[in-house]
Amino acid sequence: MSTSDQDKAESVSPLMVQDAVGNARGVLPSAPTGVPDVAALAQMANEFFRALPGQAGQFTGAQSAATVPSAAPQFGATPSSMFAAPSADRLPSEADVHRLSGGSASSYQSEVAAAPAAMNVSPYSGTEVPQRAAQNTPIGNADSPFAPPMPSFDASFPLFGAEFPAIPRMAALPTEDDVRAALNSVSSLYFLEDAGALSKPATARTAPPIAARISPSVLQDLQLPRKQFDVNSVRRDFPILQEQVNGKPLIWLDNAATTQKPQSVIDRISYFYEHENSNIHRAAHELAAKATDAYENAREKVARFLNASSVNEIVFVRGATEAINLVAKSWGRRHIGKDDEIVISWIEHHANIVPWQMLAAETGARLRVAPVDDDGQILLDEFEKLLSPRTRLVSVTQVSNALGTITPTRQIVQMAHRYGARVLVDGAQSVSHMSTDVQALDCDFFVFSGHKVFGPTGIGVLYGKPDALADSPPWQGGGNMIVDVTFEKTIYHAAPARFEAGTGNIADAVGLGAAIDYVEQLGMENIARHEHDLLIYATKLLQTIPGLRLIGTAKEKASVLSFVLEGFRTEEVGAALNREGIAVRSGHHCAQPALRRFGVETSVRPSLALYNHYEDVDALIAVLRKLKNTAA
Ligand code: PMP
Repeated sequence: MSTSDQDKAESVSPLMVQDAVGNARGVLPSAPTGVPDVAALAQMANEFFRALPGQAGQFTGAQSAATVPSAAPQFGATPSSMFAAPSADRLPSEADVHRLSGGSASSYQSEVAAAPAAMNVSPYSGTEVPQRAAQNTPIGNADSPFAPPMPSFDASFPLFGAEFPAIPRMAALPTEDDVRAALNSVSSLYFLEDAGALSKPATARTAPPIAARISPSVLQDLQLPRKQFDVNSVRRDFPILQEQVNGKPLIWLDNAATTQKPQSVIDRISYFYEHENSNIHRAAHELAAKATDAYENAREKVARFLNASSVNEIVFVRGATEAINLVAKSWGRRHIGKDDEIVISWIEHHANIVPWQMLAAETGARLRVAPVDDDGQILLDEFEKLLSPRTRLVSVTQVSNALGTITPTRQIVQMAHRYGARVLVDGAQSVSHMSTDVQALDCDFFVFSGHKVFGPTGIGVLYGKPDALADSPPWQGGGNMIVDVTFEKTIYHAAPARFEAGTGNIADAVGLGAAIDYVEQLGMENIARHEHDLLIYATKLLQTIPGLRLIGTAKEKASVLSFVLEGFRTEEVGAALNREGIAVRSGHHCAQPALRRFGVETSVRPSLALYNHYEDVDALIAVLRKLKNTAA
């Protein structure tokens, strides 16, 4: 646990609550175990909300957005999103999935158009910029079926309920500050490593060896609120953001290429090598058991992250590229033959083009490509026309790395399945920006790379439906993947081991598990909302730069802002940004057909992630303006 986390954990004490409430209101009962009395805090929150003008009744998680107190400034501009009950008991629709990207009911484009007309002066560019969305407010898309269950503030907290003394009525109504302090103290519980720690007095808690955080599953059991999304505190989790580049603070806007790593991931990998390192599954000794547990535990985290129904559906590979090659060489070679067809889209990464070309060349199959419109959106009608009983496989990206388009993956899967084709979804660019639910998507394969979701390089995942994996022969032979070997015959394991020949990337799989913990702790719906606001802000500003052409203007987008600037080669723009410490990609982004569709060979591609803030965008815009001004 880092010092600051430890501080937070240690600061959970009854005194904190008493200080916040004050003697004038009477002293709240303190929990015998040294943790704040959550029920009392809940009551305090209810007292407060009831006292607001026009409010009656309890403030519970089941309250609809319409009845949430309109004047609850301590919860930021969108209190309803914090507290309206999510409907977690149904499968998400395509609209839900899109909403998760922050798209909400209105489209990305219309939101850009409707972004506030009011202007502020940017501290970076000194020019007028559109007003930003409120920062550092609790956010979350409560409409999302994936939204975490928010606690009812009258709910009894299972862990504490029985042990606590009856709650006395408070002597006076709590103030706004009281409620804020109370809720903060509740959310600081979040930093405790495990549920067991909650029942120990603060002084008896020992710091865990690494900066582990309470796991979301434990959190759900406890029904504690998620930590509020605060971009400044998120930034402190990423040590590399303290780096200077060319004498300027690093601004990392190359997230589509790779993401930076939080301290908890770095610590987890170090801890593995310091305390657990061993090969797995083989030796009967302590470290082998520890390493195996850590590795398999990471597989469980991945399964939960993707909402797979079993750990056996999760194969560890090197990355998205290797996962696609695995499917092509294993499932593909068995199921795709002469005159069969593989359908992809025009906006695929080379990793989702070349393996299929290779397979087609080998088998005599044909590659068909679904076109996109001028905004970079897949033309679904045209896509459907390509489907036929000859279609064996459809392979599409969920988010385009060159344009940012979020594709209608669920609809594509449904259409393809009507023709009996399997579907692979390339999640390399989606997993860090939106929740993934492979069961809701109903895809047959799903692939992603750990390094794009704040995990290490060299580790990635292939998810496969059980029948699809069972129908795929091993693609590499060696140790680990066998049940028995004689010179005459080898018996293979079932999935996933049959696809994990040799010693895998054990430590980085464990690191990926820590990365998943990290994003789950922040809440994907909160991340999506933050990035969505930032994307709209950045788009609006980029559109004010003369001669700048955005490449990729789909209604539903995530993260990516591809553009070309009249009068400048894309490398020149990249170099100018680099001089100011700003990292963006300029080039073809391994998606040449996608860019050529828009008549360009290369583009400049800033791409956003959860730790980017408005200042990053302002700095980007300032450099682009300067570049234009000096050329004029
Ligand atoms: N698909 C997409 C959409 C990507 O953006 C990338 C990486 N840029 C890949 C696949 C390949 O990922 P990796 O290089 O990590 O295997």
